[in-house]
Amino acid sequence: MSTSTKTISYIAIVSIILILCAQAYLVYDYFQTVRLALIRESDTILKEAFRADLNQRNTNLDIMPDENENIDPTDDAEFVDFDLSEGSEDEESILNKLDIIMHIYISNFIPIDLQKLDSITNQILHERNITSEFVIQLIAPEDQTVVASSKKLSKSSIFLIPSQLYPLDFENKEALKLILINPFSEIIKRMGLMLLGSIIFSIIALLAFRFLFLTLSKQKKLVRFKNEFLSNIAHELKRPVASLTVNLDGLQDPDIFDNTGMRDMMLHNSLNALTEMNGTISMLVGLAREEEGLLVLNKQPVNLVDIIIDLKNRFVSSPAKRVSIHTDFESEAIIVQGDSIMLTQCFANLIDNAIKYSDGDATVNISVHMNKSNVILAFEDKGMGIPADKIEHIFEKYSRVDDHSKVSGFGIGLNYVKTIIEKHGGSISVSSEIHVGSTFKVLLPCK
Ligand code: ADP
Repeated sequence: MSTSTKTISYIAIVSIILILCAQAYLVYDYFQTVRLALIRESDTILKEAFRADLNQRNTNLDIMPDENENIDPTDDAEFVDFDLSEGSEDEESILNKLDIIMHIYISNFIPIDLQKLDSITNQILHERNITSEFVIQLIAPEDQTVVASSKKLSKSSIFLIPSQLYPLDFENKEALKLILINPFSEIIKRMGLMLLGSIIFSIIALLAFRFLFLTLSKQKKLVRFKNEFLSNIAHELKRPVASLTVNLDGLQDPDIFDNTGMRDMMLHNSLNALTEMNGTISMLVGLAREEEGLLVLNKQPVNLVDIIIDLKNRFVSSPAKRVSIHTDFESEAIIVQGDSIMLTQCFANLIDNAIKYSDGDATVNISVHMNKSNVILAFEDKGMGIPADKIEHIFEKYSRVDDHSKVSGFGIGLNYVKTIIEKHGGSISVSSEIHVGSTFKVLLPCK
């Protein structure tokens, strides 16, 4: 990976982490605001419920039989001094104090009933469209112990939002608390838009970064691929150039030049090297032209038998390994309308592959037959074969079988063959078995 690509990747990773952290912080901060709002609302609801309960108990007290009149509420009571005009107390806190006084008084006759308070709270919550479960607790504020509870907290009560303590006396002995149980729906309802916005933003950011990483890795692959491709081409061209150099160099020696047999062989080798080089270059140019839509066939009647015989002569004299090529022609002249140079290049490729991908000596069987509408050419070898999972890819550009990496090549030959054969209105297929061999079948229309 180049330094700039690495830097971009690091910057992108840091940015995505920062964006996600910022999103998480914003969501958390908003959640805290919603939680505080819910606590404040619970305080108000608890106060409202307590006052409603107090009023009910007061009304009940009024209609109670007269026997209460004989009870002196001050009998067991402790007296507390407080001054309503004390300090700068607002109207609300004075009312609270009056509520407490009333509660203390009424409790002597009708003590507070948490179940009743629970049902009043339930009603207020529904009026406010809050559907969460809840519980009301009577608390001893000093040690925060629960003295009584309107209902039991179940094990599924994992997330609780408690109100502040609502005092029921002036000595801090008893207080009420309203706890909202698992108020997820309430929180989601209040955070809904913010959550949705944040999720959408995070998804867009992640998609954008994914796209960036895909582009970067594509670019990285392309650079690696370009380098591999160039070095493969250089290697492929070096081979014939080396052969040409050796043979032409040898021909400079008068002893060799005068030896007719040696001279003919070296000239033949030099010509083969030039043909190979020319073939590689025309394949590259042909594919580039085809990509630009500029490839034109120079069609004329071509005798396929002649082409195969020429190729056979060229390949059996391979200096690299012993090659036997067996041919089987339906007749001496099998004519198709085609571009002779390009078709020759295609068949040369198939024969070259059959030889290249055979360990040791190579045996290639070539047959040319006809049916009503097509000429069928088969190139069969007893070589390495192609793994089943790779067969469907070998006609793709730059595709090579990994196991064949020790054989030189750059993966455009078969793509060129397929392109040219299809341009002739034909088709190519392959059947292969690993370590047994491969057969490439080419179909070309007769007319
Ligand atoms: P190249 O030979 O330059 O790699 P080709 O496009 O001609 O490129 O072939 C693509 C791949 O298909 C080769 O790399 C090789 O793995 C596989 N292949 C082609 N022909 C044969 C064959 N006759 N036997 C085994 N494998 C083959």
